[in-house]
Amino acid sequence: MEPSRLERLCLEKGLKMTEQRRVIAQVLSNSTDHPDVELVYQRATAIDPRISIATVYRTVRLLEEANILERHDFGDGRARYEEAPEEHHDHLIDIETRKVIEFQNEEIEKLQELIAEKLGYRLVGHRLELYGVPLNSTRRRPMK
Ligand SMILES: [Zn+2]
Repeated sequence: MEPSRLERLCLEKGLKMTEQRRVIAQVLSNSTDHPDVELVYQRATAIDPRISIATVYRTVRLLEEANILERHDFGDGRARYEEAPEEHHDHLIDIETRKVIEFQNEEIEKLQELIAEKLGYRLVGHRLELYGVPLNSTRRRPMK
């Protein structure tokens, strides 16, 4: 198995990589859909059935603490994960299908810096999640 980007980051951080951790890192590296732990577990056990859900939880926490995995909460109370991206992006969540769309917008980035500056701060990070329904949706209710 070729080392995944996530595995290389782990090695750079000096994390000990067991065979099972390598599989979990590989799964996370290959997932572009912001999976939750349950989904990571399903994908990991498809490769190595000996991997337990507890091992997935522990590994995900370890990678998160090492800042090579990002945790998101997209409004349904389940933690979702993605490999720490090389370039920053924000998310739009389709609340009908739970599909997550990534986007980048220079104006929003600049505006946020400006707001922080006006409040006397230098911005060092932000989280932005948009929740929406497709334009042709008949849904009227707000989320939750
Ligand atoms: Zn993302």
